[in-house]
Amino acid sequence: MTSAPQRDPIDTGKPHPARVYDWLLGGKDNYAVDQEVGEKLPAEARANAARNRAFMHRSAAWLARQGVDQFLDVGTGIPTAPNLHQIVQRITPTARIVYADNDPIVLRHAEALLVSSPEGATDYLHADVREPEAILELARKVLDFDRPIALSLIALMHFLRDEEDPYGITRTLVGALAPGSFLVLSHGTADQHPELREETEKAYRKGAIALRMRTRAEIEPFFEGLELVAPGLVPAAEWYQEQPAPAQERSGFYVGVGRVR
Ligand code: SAH
Repeated sequence: MTSAPQRDPIDTGKPHPARVYDWLLGGKDNYAVDQEVGEKLPAEARANAARNRAFMHRSAAWLARQGVDQFLDVGTGIPTAPNLHQIVQRITPTARIVYADNDPIVLRHAEALLVSSPEGATDYLHADVREPEAILELARKVLDFDRPIALSLIALMHFLRDEEDPYGITRTLVGALAPGSFLVLSHGTADQHPELREETEKAYRKGAIALRMRTRAEIEPFFEGLELVAPGLVPAAEWYQEQPAPAQERSGFYVGVGRVR
């Protein structure tokens, strides 16, 4: 089931965040223009993308083990196994997952996200996070908003400029969730390697992709009103629940999981 998507053409003349990220992860669903941005990024960018993806793996599994069986993942990205539903349905086969992204190439590959376990469900929305009400309306067809849902905004909000109100959008989405729900968020930052800020911003700017890395103080407000679970807002590789945390590292992402009271 998909939400009557329009088949927007794939623009191969202009880099797209989903495809640059795919390149960083070592995927094949990207074009020369995307590669060009990726190659201009600091060498650390590839390891950072992998660390961010690994955080998605660990947080999704942790949430499923907490008993969460409904997931709304906005800014899903080009399918890269294991995808979120594969992680959570391995633990809870009846889990229901709604994915959303605004990039036509993600839509093109959405079949890989729609292979739910027979007991559960997956859906894909071709939708823009800047229209959160529309996402909520469509997600309600698959998810029960009277029960806990894990909303993930992973490596997404740094593509929204301040004028686009990323905090207000997050509050609208989180405001629709029942107590016991979670917000899972990761966000690009230069806090841990300020010397790479310039190079990173320049590479994206050259590709006409708006990138708004934020400081820790600017990322904390995304969790306003939520109870951050341990270990709090930390660099991606330091978010561990059941395994010991690895040595500290300088990833380009802050990550956190907040509980709706
Ligand atoms: N969440 C995945 C992919 C991150 S890449 C992961 O962390 O592994 C960022 C994704 O956000 C891309 O797929 C991009 O297309 C999507 N995105 C960027 N701006 C968006 C918007 N306004 N609405 C919905 N998705 C958006």
